[in-house]
Amino acid sequence: MTADILVVGRMPPNVLGQLESAFTVHVLPEQEADAETMIRDVGPLIRGLATNAVQAPPVAVLDALPNLEVVASSGIGTDALNADYARGRGIVVANTPDVLSEDVADAGIMLMLAVSRQLLQADRNVRDGRWLKGLSLGHRVNNKRLGILGLGRIGRAIARRAEGFDMAIGYHQRRADAEVSYRYFDDVVALAADSDFLIVVVPGGATTKNMIDRQVLDALGPEGILINVGRGSTVDEPELVAALAEGRIRGAGLDVLADEPNVPQALRTMDQVVLAPHYASGTVETRLAMGQLVVDNLRAHFSGEALLTPVM
Ligand code: NDP
Repeated sequence: MTADILVVGRMPPNVLGQLESAFTVHVLPEQEADAETMIRDVGPLIRGLATNAVQAPPVAVLDALPNLEVVASSGIGTDALNADYARGRGIVVANTPDVLSEDVADAGIMLMLAVSRQLLQADRNVRDGRWLKGLSLGHRVNNKRLGILGLGRIGRAIARRAEGFDMAIGYHQRRADAEVSYRYFDDVVALAADSDFLIVVVPGGATTKNMIDRQVLDALGPEGILINVGRGSTVDEPELVAALAEGRIRGAGLDVLADEPNVPQALRTMDQVVLAPHYASGTVETRLAMGQLVVDNLRAHFSGEALLTPVM
């Protein structure tokens, strides 16, 4: 008899196929009423949950799965996973670190270049038949100073790429990393003050909430550019909008926002802002690798083995 698995949120079709060949799969319908009916019908059967870091179900749904043993999430962020609640019930939780680091790092660099070199305005000019008309010059990225908030797996992948741009790299996190020679700042304001570009790639949650506040933005200054590929909650969004509107920073590239998918109207209208829909890991290759790890974690658990990538 195979274990019953509940799938909540997006899952690539061939990953779903693999789940279906190994388990009895129930895909939670998007419509709330249909979802409630399904949970009522199969809730007690469910032993495993396959989900992702953005669309993970709330505690109310987990409460209706009394025999849940394992949550396998596609993504790194644990802020939406109710990991403490799961631990309290003895449910083990896995995520998908490492396999997405390189693509998220690419996305951070892409946003930095797109904002600084005004890629979207240039593209619009050409499409509108205006060629160079009204297009101001962009700003250089190479040989500038890059500050990285969070020199973890993704942060280090960003730094490696930035070395190729001959950037001077500094970073802040709670502890200095003895294995790297980049300059450590024990305070994010000091890092921002010494950066032309500040890339945010720390986890979400209480310890990083609104870390990028008015003081940090003012330290980054009118020639500074903020890039966020971590979590929207780390940036005080009203302060960011004000800093952009008042020219207290030059621009921003945002893959993540405070209240996704809602985006402040002001940000949508600003030419100096490049936006993406939490899409930094969104390549065919990486999403497949993430999905594979979800399948492999569930397989490991139900074969009596330890999770491959447990959330500590
Ligand atoms: P890691 O755990 O490898 O790195 C996180 C880094 O953040 C560590 O260096 C840690 O250092 C630092 N950090 C954590 N808390 C704080 C804090 N309170 N203050 C300062 N620094 C802190 O994670 P990854 O690099 O793999 O991923 C980072 C985040 O990126 C994820 O948690 C996720 O939210 C986001 N992400 C976004 C994606 C997207 O699509 N945009 C895709 C994947 C991930 P220290 O502990 O020393 O402080």
